[in-house]
Amino acid sequence: MRTVLELNLKNSKIMAMNTMIVKCPVCNNNTLKITDYLYEIPRVGKVILTVGKCSKCNYKFNDIRLAEARGPRKIVFMIENSDDVDALVIKSSSASVIIKEIGLKMLPGPASQGFISTIEGILQRFKEAVETACRSLDANQGKCKQLISLLDRAREGKEKLTIIVVDPEGVSAIESPKARIEEVSKEELEELGYIVQPSD
Ligand SMILES: [Zn+2]
Repeated sequence: MRTVLELNLKNSKIMAMNTMIVKCPVCNNNTLKITDYLYEIPRVGKVILTVGKCSKCNYKFNDIRLAEARGPRKIVFMIENSDDVDALVIKSSSASVIIKEIGLKMLPGPASQGFISTIEGILQRFKEAVETACRSLDANQGKCKQLISLLDRAREGKEKLTIIVVDPEGVSAIESPKARIEEVSKEELEELGYIVQPSD
């Protein structure tokens, strides 16, 4: 499996663009330092990585997005074999990730961050979220076991699952010739909790 660090060092030209100090949403001091970096990732293109750190309370913020916004869209990717889980995913802080067959959703909230990962990394994040939810006493343990084993099998390429990244800004990407770009309707966006402005 490729690691993100490896990818950054080997294939990317890294350039700091600008730095600013803004108000920290956690401690409210003017001590949150935000720096944008421009990266060039092969087959993905130019991306902007934003790193924020508060010197007072240590709050950290990360985001990543394509430098060029492509408008509301969804990216549909089917995991069919063990090579598919190595595909690179750029998920901006405003994007949602859905596993179609089992209805699991990663929705953006106020504390949502962007990240660069692989399909395997996404499956791992879902597994951790399911494990956390399943610690609750009223969780259906049979269902929990079933979901976790499904996610594990998908990571080994033994279970076909469809990953959908919904991005109202079109700044997320899945780096694979198999990734399909589809239009996303206003209704779909609203269903996921996005506030859709009239387009005029
Ligand atoms: Zn702070």
